Amino acid sequence: MNHVVVVGAGLAGVRSVEALRAHGFGGRITLIGEERHRPYDRPPLSKAVLAGEADSTFVESDLDAMDVGFRPGVSAKGLRPGVVETTEGELPYDGLVIATGATPIRLRGEGPQHVLRTIDDALALRELFAGGPAVAVVGAGWIGAEVATAARKAGCEVTVVEAGDAPLAVALGAETGAYTIPWYERAGVRLLLSTRVATVDPDGITLADGTPLKADVVVTGVGVRPAVGWLDGSGIRLDNGVVTDEHLRTSLPGVVAVGDCAAWWSRRFRTRLRVEHWDTALGAPDVAAASLLGEDAVYDPVPYFWSEQFGHMVQYAGHHQAAARRVLRGDPAADPKWAICWLTADDRLAAILTVDRPRDLVQGRRLVEGGQRLDVERLMDPAITLRDC
Ligand code: FAD
Repeated sequence: MNHVVVVGAGLAGVRSVEALRAHGFGGRITLIGEERHRPYDRPPLSKAVLAGEADSTFVESDLDAMDVGFRPGVSAKGLRPGVVETTEGELPYDGLVIATGATPIRLRGEGPQHVLRTIDDALALRELFAGGPAVAVVGAGWIGAEVATAARKAGCEVTVVEAGDAPLAVALGAETGAYTIPWYERAGVRLLLSTRVATVDPDGITLADGTPLKADVVVTGVGVRPAVGWLDGSGIRLDNGVVTDEHLRTSLPGVVAVGDCAAWWSRRFRTRLRVEHWDTALGAPDVAAASLLGEDAVYDPVPYFWSEQFGHMVQYAGHHQAAARRVLRGDPAADPKWAICWLTADDRLAAILTVDRPRDLVQGRRLVEGGQRLDVERLMDPAITLRDC
């Protein structure tokens, strides 16, 4: 293999380049990215950058020292075996890493609509929030909750409009998400649940029942779609992202996929997973690079992510869809530090969500990995160390 092309210069792309070199690949590497920036981290965009504590989040990686041909501002437009078609001509490859991430979904309507995906989005929003405008955030998912936190901190009047019955309903289920409703109240954020938005208008939004809601700034946080449109017609298998096996190999020989755009086969959970979180973009490239270079590597993590919202550190590990039931560890009404454990039918931990209990998260992740049976009575007692359950 002489030339590897990596498409997408986000975290998964830059980690792929590093992993290729770490696995001893001495050939040519070209990294192309649609954005005009060096690779940077996205989690701080909705946290430190919006809060004015950071202006840039570049990933520390010396592309020159790794002898990588980095081409910012270049997009992939199409793929045929052995050739990536780009906005700057054709790029032949022997090996290809697809790391094009995901793109925010936008709502209908003629009004100005902000999303938060790039550093440019974050800096623009920060400037707007500084004026203390009325902000409507559409969606109480991870991004919506973090944007609402930052906007409120900046002194904005904030309304969050959520179609589900609770915040985080899509990610965690409404029953679990409902435990975060008091966080909105305490922060002085107005939360409209079970409320759909029809359009974004020049002076705010219109709800599905026709009610207008005035806002100076509208931020849409209703999810993302894998950025794989450029692969249409390439013959590569797509189904909620780029379909890969457990080695992160796609249906085309010599092509692997990583990060937000990849739907990989999870040996552990016996299902296909596409996880739009930082830890996946960080960890998957090592396996993808090894697979591309002919090594036998399997990507089989316990998925992990975190979110910082309304002064709480929320962390999650596992795959709760594999669970039969859910138990509370602690009482969210009485103690701000609590956790939820999702258990299989035979009392093994499938997933854990922790709020301000980082030790539970670390131990819980190990319990999901280990797969041992647990004493559920002990598990429900937050005074008992999780690893002793
Ligand atoms: P991306 O970071 O999306 O990178 C893909 C790159 O490919 C982009 O630069 C894109 O422009 C480029 N690209 C797309 N199409 C093309 C094309 N056709 N040609 C060339 N280039 C292309 N995760 C957590 O676990 N915890 C958090 O707290 C957290 N906070 C977040 C906050 C924000 C605001 C955002 C946006 C995400 C957050 N995430 C968080 C998610 C995490 O950042 C993502 O999972 C991670 O960035 C995915 O990395 P990636 O490299 O797969 O994709």
